Amino acid sequence: MVDFCRSPHIVIVGAGPAGLLAAISAAQQGGVRVTILEKNAEAGQKLLLTGQGRCNVTNFSPNAEIIARFFDNGKFLYKPLHHFDAEALRDFFASQGLRLVEQERGRAFPETQKARDVLGALLKAALDSGVDIRYNTQVTDIKCDDCGHIKAVVTATGFVTADACILAVGGCSYPRTGSTGDGYAIAGRHGHRIVSVRAGLAPIHTTTEDIFGLQGVSVRDIRLTLTLPDHKPLSCEGDLLFTHFGITGPAVLRLSRYLPQDEEIYAGFVRLHLDALPNYAHDVLGRMWISDMTESPNVSVKHILKKYLPTAFLLAAMRRCAINPAMPGRECTKAMRSALLNMVKAYPITPIKPPPFEMAMVTAGGVDTKNINPKTMQSKLIRGLYFAGEVIDVDGDTGGYNLQAAFSTGHLAGQSAAEAVKMSECDD
Ligand SMILES: Cc1cc2nc3c(=O)[nH]c(=O)nc-3n(C[C@H](O)[C@H](O)[C@H](O)COP(=O)(O)OP(=O)(O)OC[C@H]3O[C@@H](n4cnc5c(N)ncnc54)[C@H](O)[C@@H]3O)c2cc1C
Repeated sequence: MVDFCRSPHIVIVGAGPAGLLAAISAAQQGGVRVTILEKNAEAGQKLLLTGQGRCNVTNFSPNAEIIARFFDNGKFLYKPLHHFDAEALRDFFASQGLRLVEQERGRAFPETQKARDVLGALLKAALDSGVDIRYNTQVTDIKCDDCGHIKAVVTATGFVTADACILAVGGCSYPRTGSTGDGYAIAGRHGHRIVSVRAGLAPIHTTTEDIFGLQGVSVRDIRLTLTLPDHKPLSCEGDLLFTHFGITGPAVLRLSRYLPQDEEIYAGFVRLHLDALPNYAHDVLGRMWISDMTESPNVSVKHILKKYLPTAFLLAAMRRCAINPAMPGRECTKAMRSALLNMVKAYPITPIKPPPFEMAMVTAGGVDTKNINPKTMQSKLIRGLYFAGEVIDVDGDTGGYNLQAAFSTGHLAGQSAAEAVKMSECDD
């Protein structure tokens, strides 16, 4: 009979998607004891918010396309994804009685369209595998022996001995869900480099002038360009939505991670330009407008140009150029046309502060991938310490990519940790 209490102990910090799957995959290796320490009173608080409560669990695109949807360090995910890809995730949930269905652009959701069912399946699998989850337990540090091998996890009230520890504490986006950046402090204290953390997939607050008359207006297929002093301009494409405080939508979310976190820089130095018609070259569009106005000299400029853009946006652009929208096409001078063209191709938007972590779907930056072995997720600095999920410096676009990264790195970390502790048992 196996003496369970004497089995090697793997402690996982954080009961989010990465931590839960790490625990399941470790426990399913057998011969190990697995405990999750979670600071909240419940697991998966962020998971419940995903996909607006529907949870875009993964994306069924090929791995190469998934990797391409990560911003900086997608290649780090090559091994974890190869180890546990979207198909493997689909099989895992199917084994728990939850079918994933593919929707537009490869996005996969639970058939029930409920994030709570995804969390339920993970918790059931964890409990069925014998994982012990201790809630209301905040981890503050780890302890290592003289050989640099993990030996315990420190909590607010004591410590828990561990043969391996998987840090799956998330980043610092949506801090109310429990992800408050604790992993950076712990990993940093033990020599890991922390790549500067920024809010990713977040909306941007702008001046009220930029959004005047535009709240609720969506402009499709735009290009948004960020210019910062001493930096090359950076652009992202997609739709943009004006809100009551600024801008959001796919193009904005993608660009947000590149905005500086330093509030002081924002006094006029951070600039955005919206090209509302990126598929038309400046001169081509100019010639089209001349021909439109020549064909309809008595029709108002607003009516002539509304086929190109949402009316509210056109009106805002005209207001900024001091052009009367009711002016007939024949009266629109070359200088007016040129000013309006410049405005539509480079509508200035001024962010007033860094994108807020409170509204960011992911954290950009985190534990440097160079400090982590991508074949195992083990730290290159501390034996027995593993990382999984958003705490790592890897962030991707919307579309199910970030959860797949959490699941893939979690599964790999769990399996590697279990194999390593069992191996070192045999060596002893
Ligand atoms: C509103 C919103 C919608 C999203 N929608 C999607 C989507 O549809 N698809 C998608 O792919 N991604 C989505 N994401 C991103 C996705 O949720 C994250 O990438 C994912 O949750 C990261 O998983 P994780 O396990 O690494 O971290 P988390 O989910 O943040 O879990 C970390 C856990 O660790 C715990 N913890 C933290 N510190 C400690 C500590 N010191 N001691 C003990 N426990 C600790 C936390 O309480 C938490 O339970 C969304 C994010 C948000 C905010």
